Amino acid sequence: MPLVGTKEMFKKAYDGGYAIGAFNVNNMEIVQGITEAAAELKSPIILQASAGARKYAKNAYLVHLVEAALDVCDIPIALHLDHGADFETCKSCVDGGFTSVMIDGSKYPFKENIELTKRVVDYAHEHNVVVEAELGQLAGIEDDVKVKANEAHYTQPDEVEEFVKSTGVDSLAIAIGTSHGAFKFKPEQCTRNADGILVPPELRFDILEEVEKRLPDFPIVLHGASSVIQKYVKIINDNGGALKDAVGIPEDQLRKAAKSAVCKINIDSDLRLAMTAGIRETMAAQPDVFDPRKYIGPGRAYIHELVAHKIKYVLGSDNKADEVMELINANK
Ligand SMILES: [Zn+2]
Repeated sequence: MPLVGTKEMFKKAYDGGYAIGAFNVNNMEIVQGITEAAAELKSPIILQASAGARKYAKNAYLVHLVEAALDVCDIPIALHLDHGADFETCKSCVDGGFTSVMIDGSKYPFKENIELTKRVVDYAHEHNVVVEAELGQLAGIEDDVKVKANEAHYTQPDEVEEFVKSTGVDSLAIAIGTSHGAFKFKPEQCTRNADGILVPPELRFDILEEVEKRLPDFPIVLHGASSVIQKYVKIINDNGGALKDAVGIPEDQLRKAAKSAVCKINIDSDLRLAMTAGIRETMAAQPDVFDPRKYIGPGRAYIHELVAHKIKYVLGSDNKADEVMELINANK
């Protein structure tokens, strides 16, 4: 099966009240852990690479790793550029085999964001590649994207129609209180539950609803949507790590979002935590091990476990691969 775009995935996800997981990839074991879990559960997925991932692994390796996954898995997979900072980065991904790109003009004023996004959309659509853009700005850190809490701002619903109409963009990332990284909120922004775990402020579903009303049938994207699963944080901290007060978005809120116009949920930090937990746990238990397969393998196994959990209990995309493939074939 060749790489596919996201149009049909989002159409089915929108109508069916589920979301497609967009998982960040950097190396072979991450690609394998994600795609093996998705194939087992017959879920369509998006694999995405940031500029940092392309720098680390090189474009050709990423593209061929994802193509290798397609050789062994019978599910629709899209390859997406996460946070393209400029036209040139997006163009090089369009030319380099990606089926979807994000142009992140959220740091620019509204009109400049429109101009930049439109330029990318015009080029990408000529090459049959879909485009995601962003309005509003998330706090947090993800690779080269760093936004301080006081500079972040929610998406303004009264801007979304003009933005989508003027750019022709295919999907839109909005800021409703999610945040990049494993330390999404400061302790003073949160309350603590009975176990002493930080509980962050509720996502702004009122903004999401306003956006939905203004953009009927239009796919919305959530970035910074890892839940920072405490099981992996605990394994890391019990085995020499020091992730104090790591906090993410509660999964019941993400599940609620997946049932709405949100069609794509980005997950990166949770993958990093799962991989690190597997590696730390093995290295601490078996200090004599020096075969990388013996400790990266358990990291890959935790990624598999994590992605299966997300697909079943957060995204709701299990057993949806066939309906997406049917629509792709019908649209050919
Ligand atoms: Zn992001």
